[in-house]
Amino acid sequence: MKTRIKEIYKTMEYGPAPEDASEAIQFLKKYNNKFNLFINGKWVTPSSGEYYDSINPSTKEKLAQISEANEADVDKAVAAAKKALPKWVSIGAHQRARYLYALARQIQKHSRLFSVLESLDNGKPIRETRDIDIPIVVRHFYHHAGWAQLRDTELKDYKELGVIGQIIPWNFPLMMLSWKIAPAIAMGNTIVLKPAEATSLTALLFAEICQQIGLPNGVVNIITGHGSTGAAIVNHKDVSKIAFTGSTEVGKIIRRATAGTGKKLSLELGGKSPFIVFEDADLDSVVEGIVDAIWFNQGQVCCAGSRLLVQESIAEKLYKKIRARMENLRIGNALDKSIDIGAIVDDTQLKTIKEMVQLGVDEGSTLNQPSWACPTEGYYYPPTLFTDVSPSATIAQEEIFGPVLVAMSFRTHKEAVKLANNTRYGLACSIWTENINLALDIAPQIKAGVAWINCTNVFDAAAGFGGYRESGFGREGGKEGLMEYLKPRINNEFTDEPLPISINNLDTPNENGLPSLGIDRTTKMYIGGKQARPDGGYSTVINSVKGVYIGEVSKGNRKDIRNAVEAAHANNKWLDMTGHSRAQVLYYLAENLMIRREEFASRIVQMTNQNKSDALQEVDLSIERIYTYAALADKYDGHVHHTIHRNVTLAMPENLGVMGIICPDESPLLGFISTVIPAITMGNSVIVIPSEKLPFSATDFYQVLETSDVPAGTVNIVTGGKDELAQVLAKHDNVDAIWYFGNKEGCREIEFLSADNMKRTWVNYGKYRNWLDKAQGEGQEFLKHASQIKNIWIPYGA
Ligand code: NDP
Repeated sequence: MKTRIKEIYKTMEYGPAPEDASEAIQFLKKYNNKFNLFINGKWVTPSSGEYYDSINPSTKEKLAQISEANEADVDKAVAAAKKALPKWVSIGAHQRARYLYALARQIQKHSRLFSVLESLDNGKPIRETRDIDIPIVVRHFYHHAGWAQLRDTELKDYKELGVIGQIIPWNFPLMMLSWKIAPAIAMGNTIVLKPAEATSLTALLFAEICQQIGLPNGVVNIITGHGSTGAAIVNHKDVSKIAFTGSTEVGKIIRRATAGTGKKLSLELGGKSPFIVFEDADLDSVVEGIVDAIWFNQGQVCCAGSRLLVQESIAEKLYKKIRARMENLRIGNALDKSIDIGAIVDDTQLKTIKEMVQLGVDEGSTLNQPSWACPTEGYYYPPTLFTDVSPSATIAQEEIFGPVLVAMSFRTHKEAVKLANNTRYGLACSIWTENINLALDIAPQIKAGVAWINCTNVFDAAAGFGGYRESGFGREGGKEGLMEYLKPRINNEFTDEPLPISINNLDTPNENGLPSLGIDRTTKMYIGGKQARPDGGYSTVINSVKGVYIGEVSKGNRKDIRNAVEAAHANNKWLDMTGHSRAQVLYYLAENLMIRREEFASRIVQMTNQNKSDALQEVDLSIERIYTYAALADKYDGHVHHTIHRNVTLAMPENLGVMGIICPDESPLLGFISTVIPAITMGNSVIVIPSEKLPFSATDFYQVLETSDVPAGTVNIVTGGKDELAQVLAKHDNVDAIWYFGNKEGCREIEFLSADNMKRTWVNYGKYRNWLDKAQGEGQEFLKHASQIKNIWIPYGA
């Protein structure tokens, strides 16, 4: 009898367990299956008069007609958001918190309707929308109701940005909406959001929820349409920030389109995230992890664990288990509660997946798919595993965005890290081992914004999510996510012109009571800890502000920049040092600068003809500033987030890597110190272009660096034409970030050229800081721009 029941369980067919869709159908009918735009709290017909069809990918049936918004509609929506802004700001933190709380409650009350509608529209299994997507949405609004309440106490030094343009993709429609809208409105901004053309329905239901809770008109505007609608939002002059999630390709278009405009930008882009399995991992857990990593949401997940890296000794054993698990996965209509895999979002995406898989076969990888066939009435694709994949294969490098896993093996830990980082992306990684020491050794070495240890695809409103490299920049979730919707209040004090300096009537430092420096020989550059002659063999004459000849500096060129970048990359010593050790070196730098205080003051007088006392003040402030960063070197640290899972979620600031720094022309020594020191404090190596007009404070600094135990390659200084050298740095693929202090056009160039490898940029848009003022010239804001947060999730439970 016992055997027979077991047999029955094995052979029994699954019956369909369809979710009732009648409420969702009713919702669509209420609008005659035709949706207008949600602008200023009302439904508005699109100016174009055009609508397009929204399709149920599980069945290919038409669900509704969606409006195509054009530039005039975008204009209306932005105007409504702009008009709503002052009142939304003035009602204060508590009132905004109440609205966010009401949104959370109302979505929670209608969560089943949202889940069903999302599954109908997107094709993702109801099991996922019901248990993952919508609960995360609700949690996001609750969590941010809290941040709205705390806005004026916790973040009082920051100000809202204004009207925010938000553009989201089709893979997690309502979840992406919540990640964008909740922090933006909690911080006092108003928004215009465009959902993806294929999946607009839950955003439109959300608009109805905004009406139901009485959200003030214009705070949230939802406009539907295609890429051109998104582009109109990006290019609108009254939009202060763009928050975008989608492909790296469009992310780059947006980076270039917004270059130089001063629009703040956060980009959450593609990925090719490694899923690394070490030989001591619990393989049955690993297999379930893989199901969640690559078959969750049909693999249409930006952080999908799409590259399986397995230690060679267990590779075949694991592949066998994966094949067996694939055979048991069930695929079908998204509303069937007992399926594992739903439909691909549309025929275009299905075609892309098929083409990529064919390419994998053509390039010689081995295709593994289950023996069963997919249903034919919708857009389905079976779970797929590629083995025998070379690390350079297209399928190992390019995002497929479908249920396709590519597997490679490694032998040593070092090789695992190398393979994992062999990608232009850096969104997430998943590390599987029973050895916590190993996991915590590997996690910081992977260049990715999220590291999941023995888990994958876990998200929570309290933890930041976002990428490194071409996976974009900015974070969503946690306190770091709020920063994307705020600006420091101090920014309002920056000026359009540099502060005037008081010039004396004396010509030389010694007339000023300072030691004379005489006429200098031509200074070299400083690369890899050594003084280096310029590749081109040219030098540039430098005169004082009064036009008196002071000396000459080497004229750096593209080759010198390349050498400097190479030297910066070769320097692991600085990166490997603890905050404490870096602090010691910084104190030593300050000490050595102090010894040469008079000499540095002389140089400032020689270049700027300032008064002695002003020059000495600049040197003293430089010393003090180095002290500030020495103090912060072991104190600017991370958080342990209170995520709702049984996890320790560590938010760790990490260095950006190799940074280019283009120094301001004002305050020749202090401007150099104020930019270079915070960057190296965070463990970055830097290539510095000092002030073109007044470079000698930086070139004098070589000797201070040489005598202060700063490892070779940490600070590399290339003198010469500021904008010419800056552009070489901005185009360089091995430079991770760039800071530029200069004119408006230079800022635009830097942002535009940085799009190629998605460098982090920090530019001044032609505004001037007063470097002598501590509030403007130093502090944690600088460290924030010199680092990025990695969230490491460590689950616990015996
Ligand atoms: P896109 O990046 O094209 O779309 C994302 C959003 O941006 C959509 O709302 C889209 O509009 C909009 N958009 C498109 N072009 C522009 C533009 N020039 N300016 C402003 N907004 C624009 O992704 P796709 O949907 O086309 O998917 C293509 C590939 O992108 C996928 O195969 C996948 O590899 C990747 N992807 C990555 C995602 C991620 O989360 N990282 C999410 C989605 C896709 P609309 O689609 O309505 O035309």
